[in-house]
Amino acid sequence: MDCIFCKIIIGKAEAVFLHEDDLVVAFLDIMPVNEGHALVVPREHHERVETLDEATYLHLFKIGRDLMRQIQTAFADVTAFNFIIANGKDAGQEVPHVHLHIIPRKLGDGFGYKFGPNYGKIVSIDERKATAKKILDR
Ligand code: 5GP
Ligand code: ZN
Repeated sequence: MDCIFCKIIIGKAEAVFLHEDDLVVAFLDIMPVNEGHALVVPREHHERVETLDEATYLHLFKIGRDLMRQIQTAFADVTAFNFIIANGKDAGQEVPHVHLHIIPRKLGDGFGYKFGPNYGKIVSIDERKATAKKILDR
């Protein structure tokens, strides 16, 4: 078994846990954006969210919000959070086991989104309607 998060879950690799229950665990990220950066991870190995059962998927976000509140209480200088799932390699996923990042943020911390060259053009209402049709008409 090659998955680092599976190894952490079964105790074969070290991590600092913030939460454990039947469906998910949470531990601190080894390379945090800011102190308190945590990962909520389903116990079962799934590479992407598509295959997670509904209960586990919803629970992942419930625990994420609970943890966010605790992190907020612990660090007075934290003013905001990013919840991020990189769902697939092309979206920046490096560890192929589903994980929800809970990233504590503060103004000027230097973290942010990087936009591509196509970003910044306003898409007309008709083009957006055409996009919605593609998504919904099937
Ligand atoms: P991704 O790019 O897949 O969304 O994020 C993977 C995250 O897992 C990164 O933030 C990285 O720092 C973290 N990570 C990778 N290996 C380990 C590890 O062995 N232990 C812990 N705690 N975090 C890890
Ligand atoms: Zn795994």
